[in-house]
Amino acid sequence: MDAGELTGWRRPDRGVLFVITGPSGVGKSTLIKRARQVIPDLGFSVSATTRAPRAGEVDGIDYHFLENDRFEELVGQGAFLEHARVYDRWYGTLRAPVEESLAAGRSIVLDIDVAGHRQVRESGMPAVHILLLPPDLITLENRLRRRGTDSEETIARRMDQVAGQLEAVAEFDHLVVNDNLRTAHKVFQGVLLGALTRTAHRGGLVRTVRGWLAARKESLEGTAEGEGSDAP
Ligand code: ADP
Ligand code: 5GP
Repeated sequence: MDAGELTGWRRPDRGVLFVITGPSGVGKSTLIKRARQVIPDLGFSVSATTRAPRAGEVDGIDYHFLENDRFEELVGQGAFLEHARVYDRWYGTLRAPVEESLAAGRSIVLDIDVAGHRQVRESGMPAVHILLLPPDLITLENRLRRRGTDSEETIARRMDQVAGQLEAVAEFDHLVVNDNLRTAHKVFQGVLLGALTRTAHRGGLVRTVRGWLAARKESLEGTAEGEGSDAP
């Protein structure tokens, strides 16, 4: 991973879970991809889905593409942190890789819909919930069309679902508007970095600073004693 833009970055002790939600075509993949090139130790949770792969999508990288039976089996085993029906297909976040990643100090991004965001909230798992917004709905539809991966029928269906994604607007911790892409990258990365520097995730740094102070105090006391013994 190229994390050269943040040389000297101090990683948190425990990873932060980021829930990214927003209507299809708003730019979630675009912003997440760039943030992962810039911010060290930022993983992506590869969801499971029963939808068919799009051209260029790779199993295990973009999604774990599963048959319905297998997905339902995993639901029965409690393997999902959250799962939801989106556009008539199943999508879900596997619990184990997320928990392992966070425990190892590696933060992780979930790109999930509103139902998934609510399930993560209800699970009580600490997470930073970010909603991405388009500048307006016409722009959103144009982006879906320009992406060139969906039929007109699918685009119309996705636009029908937008209200359901956006009515939750007030539930999120952060709202990021993706209008000018350069600005959106900066704001999005700023939100992630802000969460990653929270003291709650920085026990190691707290101990380091206390160590500096203890060492300095010791060295000053040592000097004072030394001065004392030299006195006539
Ligand atoms: P999502 O992952 O939310 O479905 P994508 O990241 O695939 O959305 O973006 C949808 C399309 O919009 C892509 O073709 C992408 O290149 C384009 N796009 C993303 N952000 C912007 C932006 N700020 N301005 C113009 N086009 C954008
Ligand atoms: P797409 O089919 O365009 O890749 O994704 C469609 C929608 O499904 C997007 O809104 C995306 O955020 C959502 N999605 C992708 N993975 C998951 C997941 O694991 N859980 C939930 N709840 N939604 C997901």
